[in-house]
Order: sequence, then C-alpha cells, then structure tokens
Amino acid sequence: MSFRALVARKTDGKITTQLETMEDADLGAGDVTIAIEWSTVNYKDGLAITGAAGVIRNFPLVPGIDLAGVVESSTDPRFAAGDRVVVNSWGLSQTHHGGYAERARVSGDWVIKLPEAISTRHAMAIGTAGYTAMLSVLALEHGGVGPDRGDVLVTGANGGVGSVAIALLSRLGYRVVASTGRLEERDYLTALGASEVIDRAELSAAGRPMGAERWAGAIDSVGSHTLANVLAQTKYRGVVTACGLAQGTDLPTTVLPFIMRNVTLAGIDSVNAPHEVRVEAYERLASDLDLAKLEQTITEVGLADASKVAEAILRGEVRGRTVVDVRR
Ligand code: NDP
Repeated sequence: MSFRALVARKTDGKITTQLETMEDADLGAGDVTIAIEWSTVNYKDGLAITGAAGVIRNFPLVPGIDLAGVVESSTDPRFAAGDRVVVNSWGLSQTHHGGYAERARVSGDWVIKLPEAISTRHAMAIGTAGYTAMLSVLALEHGGVGPDRGDVLVTGANGGVGSVAIALLSRLGYRVVASTGRLEERDYLTALGASEVIDRAELSAAGRPMGAERWAGAIDSVGSHTLANVLAQTKYRGVVTACGLAQGTDLPTTVLPFIMRNVTLAGIDSVNAPHEVRVEAYERLASDLDLAKLEQTITEVGLADASKVAEAILRGEVRGRTVVDVRR
C-alpha cells in the first residue's frame, strides 16, 4: 500500500524535508502496523528537523517523535486491529520512521493502548511534552510535595511541557506560579490554571547560590541559570524536576540547596521510560487532565506545515501544543 510521508534528507550537511509517497515495504522492522491519525511537534522535533542536535541518525527518515492512530495489523499478541494506540519517542525520528506519515510499523514494546477517555487527537495534544509534564508531576508526588506544601513553579510556562504541567497541577489543587518570557500571554496561562505569572527574567540571570525560600516544588523545562536559581529558592525538603534545556544545558549551581535545605533534583527522561511508567502516566493523564483546558493549548496544522512549526518552536515562538493532521 502507498501512503504520504514527510521525508527528511541530508545533502551537503543540510537537512531538507518534503512530502513524498512511500510504500509499506519502506516502513522498516516492527510487529505492529499503525494507520496514523495524528502526530505533533515537540521541541525535540525542532532539534531533529533543523539538525541542531543530531537527533536523526539515519537518512532518509520520516521525522516526528510521536504518533497516535489505529492498529491495522499486529503479530504481537498484545495488540489487535482496531486498537487505538500511542507511541512516544523510543527510536522514532532517530533511527526509525516517525509520526509525520500516514502509516508506521513499530515494535510492540513501544506501543501503549490509549485509555478510553483520550482520543488520538488529544493523545497528540499531550504528546511527549504533555506526557513528560505528567512524569514531572508524578516525581513531585513521589517526593512528597502535595498541594498543602505551598506554591509550585512552572518554568517555560507557554511551552508544551509548561502548559500541560500548569493544567495538571491546578486540577490537582496546587497553587501554580508560571514563569514566562511572554507576559502578554498572561490570560492564556491564567485560563490554564496559573494563580500568578512572573517574568522569566527574574530567574534567567546568574544568581546567588541560596535565596529566600519560595517554592515547595518546581517543574523546570529550561535548565541553565533558571534551574540554578529555582534550586536556590526552593523550600526545605522541596522537589525540583528537570527535563529540559530551552535556556541551556549548563547548570551553574552549588551543593548548598541539597545539603542545607534537603532539596531533591529529580531528573525526568521520557525517551526510555519503562512501559509500566508510561502506562501509569497515561492512566493519570486520563483522570487528571482537564481536556477542555488541553483544547485551549491546541493549534492544528497539516503534514506539509510540520517542518515550519518545528523550526519556530526552537525560536520560542510556539505557544502550547501543535497537533499535525497527517491526513491533510
Ligand atoms: P517548547 O518550545 O514548547 O517550550 C519551551 C519554553 O521554554 C518556551 O515556550 C519558552 O516559554 C521557554 N524558553 C524558550 N527559550 C528560553 C530561554 N532562552 N530562556 C528561558 N526560557 C526559554 O518546548 P517543549 O515544552 O516541547 O520542551 C521543553 C524542554 O523540555 C525542551 O528543552 C525539550 O527538549 C525538553 N523535553 C525533554 C524531555 C525529556 O524526556 N527529558 C521530553 C520533552 C521535552 P515562555 O515563552 O513561556 O518563556
């Protein structure tokens, strides 16, 4: 069967993408064949399509680190034709064809059945960014930071991880403070559930190793000085999660927040998260994410426009979550 795909090719060190027709024989190894309905654009898709971080290892390749759709056929007994499924990360868009196509074939170990409450479109509105936000909330909970402990800070608030984190935390009863460089988006952040919005400039410059205690917990997708300042301002026995590098990969901090305030820095990785962790995350997303709020974060594009959005996301120009309708 032939199908449409956005294909990335590398010529003279430069990556280009274009819509092409592929055949089932091109799909690569795997035991589950999926008719993709929706994909999405995450920060990592921006890194992949621009070549900024060497995400794509084999060319030509279909980018798109996430996909959601319906199983067409499966030799893995865990799945049957008609199952609604999602795949986040693993080898997608690195070594294996990803979500910017009408079809995919992947290992059954990568596939999660979607809970009834989550449509394939909403699964991609969540995407790796939203599922990472859920993993971050779970890490706060595992560290004992409940809503009664005080304010929780979300950095990179207008981004995908940030937007979904705000919606989740507010639904769970936390008082959420959103840090953003786009103060003009205050109404959007408040509608998602932020009680207070602060200028990210308060956190982004080099700061002191310890500061006044402000945050019971924090979900950071920014890294660098921002993460260092957040650690310095975290309350005794607080938990800070780190998943991202939007400001930088450096972390210019000291051991003081850890040894004087018993602060925990929890690393978050979505790419190789074990199957049972993903299943827990999706079950919690099904029960704790307000889908009306998720809807407010969504911008919809067709397959041909995924590359443009992927470039814009690296410039910090994308708000919330973009879903890609692979059938248009
Ligand atoms: P987005 O681009 O949607 O969000 C990032 C946000 O960070 C922007 O919207 C902006 O928010 C803020 N930001 C951008 N540039 C800067 C800067 N220079 N200084 C401070 N803040 C900045 O990306 P995602 O939400 O998809 O991903 C966020 C980060 O998390 C990325 O670094 C990504 O690689 C990482 N990530 C990691 C995962 C993992 O498994 N560890 C999984 C998913 C994401 P605002 O305009 O509100 O300031």
